[in-house]
Amino acid sequence: MNNDNKLHPDTLAIRAGGMRTSFNEHSEALFPTVSFVHESAEMAAKRFTGEEPGYIYSRFTNPTVDMFEQRLAALEGAGAAIATSTGMAAITTLAMSLCAQGDHIVTSGSVFGSTLNVFGPPVMGKFGVTTTIVNSTSLDAWREAIAALPKTKLVFLETPSNPTCEVFDIAAIAEMCRKAGATFVVDNCFCTPILQKPLALGADVVIHSASKHLDGQGRVMGGAIVGTKQMCKETVYNFLRTTGASLAPFNAWVLLKGLETLPIRMRAHSENALQLSDWLGNHPKITKVNYPFLSTHAQNKLARSQQSGGGAVLSFYVSGTKADAWKIIDNTKIMSITGNLGDVKTTITHPASTTHSRMSAAAREAAGITDTLIRVAVGLEAQEDLRADLARGLDQI
Ligand SMILES: *Cc1c(COP(=O)(O)O)cnc(C)c1O
Repeated sequence: MNNDNKLHPDTLAIRAGGMRTSFNEHSEALFPTVSFVHESAEMAAKRFTGEEPGYIYSRFTNPTVDMFEQRLAALEGAGAAIATSTGMAAITTLAMSLCAQGDHIVTSGSVFGSTLNVFGPPVMGKFGVTTTIVNSTSLDAWREAIAALPKTKLVFLETPSNPTCEVFDIAAIAEMCRKAGATFVVDNCFCTPILQKPLALGADVVIHSASKHLDGQGRVMGGAIVGTKQMCKETVYNFLRTTGASLAPFNAWVLLKGLETLPIRMRAHSENALQLSDWLGNHPKITKVNYPFLSTHAQNKLARSQQSGGGAVLSFYVSGTKADAWKIIDNTKIMSITGNLGDVKTTITHPASTTHSRMSAAAREAAGITDTLIRVAVGLEAQEDLRADLARGLDQI
């Protein structure tokens, strides 16, 4: 129902994928059931072979999960989506279902920490997959890495990056991948389809940690793989139905309802973050602000060409020391000191000593993650309260 992809995203977020039972409930139904009953042995047999459609077992078929997958696929402009238990389950499932021994993965170094572990020695490396890490937005660096080994199967990045908000040219890297025969994957967690549509720019697959903006209120874990019907419903589906990192129906239901307010939330997050970035950029005790939609951002033009909003995440360098950065964090009363993001509640982090503490000091320095860098994932509280919350610490340094 209502899967007409010509509809506006605001409409798709609310209507796409909706299905009703014979009770005609208005809000989407939650199906907390492990299995589904068949009317006869013959029907059971036909459903198991796929000869007849129908739900079987919630590890691989559940109507609530289906509705979430269809709504997200419609928003990304994709043929299909497969929901997973977490964002990391989506990344692991995709890598394991597409890659085989001897294959090569190229990944940006500026990705979620656990993602590098999945692609590297702790997981994919154990199965004979080699990974090259690119620590640059330079197109030459990507071209070189993709050509470095003959069997480049998967190319992966996040844009904008965390925590320094670097922007990668999706269309240009997509073209390189197409020529190399590699599958190009964009983790669209920061922008969501409301602000950025990687598939329309040439990417093959979009990954989501639904635990972030898709839920938007920090309640449930979830993830998704979004792409062509063939990749999702054959390759990934067959792997996931066997290995089982599936999304729980309750979590799917929360996420389905979360998608309904995604457009309005993403626009509000972007507006709040842009205003706070502007204010921070003019503050005498701050040397630099990283935010894609600030005119001072080195890739502002690229960001504005591939995103319709800057997103929630910004970071800034304090003029001073690590102690000064910590003082700003410790003096906040509204912002939550936590590494999470994608919540209506604003969060504040010191990346060098938390989310990125396992990197070497030299690698952190090269990536711009210095001891004076603070990251804020701007929520939906009032602008004046957020400014006052940061001003309290800034006034003391
Ligand atoms: C949080 C996050 C993930 C991992 O998602 P989980 O749901 O926590 O497993 C992956 N990518 C990005 C960009 C993230 O922020």
